[in-house]
Amino acid sequence: MTGESRTSALLPTFARVDLSFERGEGPWLFTPSGERYLDFAAGIAVNSLGHSHPHLVKALQEQAAKLWHVSNLYTIPDGEKLARRLVEATFADTVFFTNSGAEALECAIKTARKYHAANGHPERYRLVTFEGAFHGRTMGALAATHSPKYQEGFTPMLDGFVRVPYNEIPAIHAAFAKHGSDIVAILVEPAQGEGGVRKPADDYLNHLRAICDANDALLMLDEVQTGNGRSGKWFAYQHNGILPDVLSTAKGLGNGYPIGATLVAGKAFDVLQPGNHGSTFGGSPLASAAALAVYEALDKEKLVQNAAKRGKQINQGLTKALKGVAGIREIRNLGLLIGVELDQPCAKLVAMARAKGLLLNVASGNVIRLAPPLVLSEEEATFIVDVVSTIVKEFMA
Ligand code: PLP
Repeated sequence: MTGESRTSALLPTFARVDLSFERGEGPWLFTPSGERYLDFAAGIAVNSLGHSHPHLVKALQEQAAKLWHVSNLYTIPDGEKLARRLVEATFADTVFFTNSGAEALECAIKTARKYHAANGHPERYRLVTFEGAFHGRTMGALAATHSPKYQEGFTPMLDGFVRVPYNEIPAIHAAFAKHGSDIVAILVEPAQGEGGVRKPADDYLNHLRAICDANDALLMLDEVQTGNGRSGKWFAYQHNGILPDVLSTAKGLGNGYPIGATLVAGKAFDVLQPGNHGSTFGGSPLASAAALAVYEALDKEKLVQNAAKRGKQINQGLTKALKGVAGIREIRNLGLLIGVELDQPCAKLVAMARAKGLLLNVASGNVIRLAPPLVLSEEEATFIVDVVSTIVKEFMA
């Protein structure tokens, strides 16, 4: 097709629907003609504070009037503060800021390789990754993602990724038995988001920690989707009482302002030295101000605790409302990351929901994924249960 005959000048990498929004307020989005939609997708688990949160609007407006960008050649006071806040909330000693989730994963992958190279083992380079995982679209993150759907046409992939089934401990032992002396790290999502809100056994991360310790490998978590309060803790690993070595996050960190972060523990905190890694924009004054304001609001409004409560409420509500409906495989949640797994593909349900003024999405073909904002009230959570159960019943009828 020529440029002239296209309706959109954008690369066709997304199957966009013909719907746009002019403004948002809390969990609501409004079209230019004033139609209202309840946003249970939250920009794919991004807008934790909903839309137009006053504290964020004020923080960004004030920063925008002062300074946007200076580069990482200079000290960025809000970036220092934000890094300190993340260190205080977690296992980490240092933080590297990026502009996206995939870039945060690239930093993690490079950290793992450099850690072993710096410790005299440059021959160690393999990472254990998982079936069903999603880590992003850049070449390193894509190699870790493994899915033929995403990799096809882009081969050869970066070498050194050993794939094992998710939530199966013997498979990991087998991978270490085969490649043990080459493995630098295990890279895992505490719950697979794009993979269908798949939750592993409660003690899965504890087993992975023990296996890493026994093999001098790093435990690296992808908390791009589960991090920053969505799981009902600041980070999902905190449900397990273990400490990872490296953690990558993004999405909810900036509530829509693009910022990601890779958090690194003492063991590996200084392996990346000047010249080893970098980013022009990462952690700019604007991005840092946005994310600091997000953390201030999460703290002040106790939204991490709210995510735990509302997630439980929605899971229990949906379980009750959908009891006896044929074709429901499982309803599960990790805080406010909620999945309703059906026995059939359900992409059509997204359009049905939209026709009723509700935005949600589907992961892994047959899992309805709800990732509402963490500011959700008890009444709004009840409303979610009513509307979603009605739509699911209609779809399955
Ligand atoms: N990791 C996980 C778990 C994700 O869910 C995503 C995005 O959906 C990414 C990495 C990639 O993040 P981004 O799209 O910001 O590059």
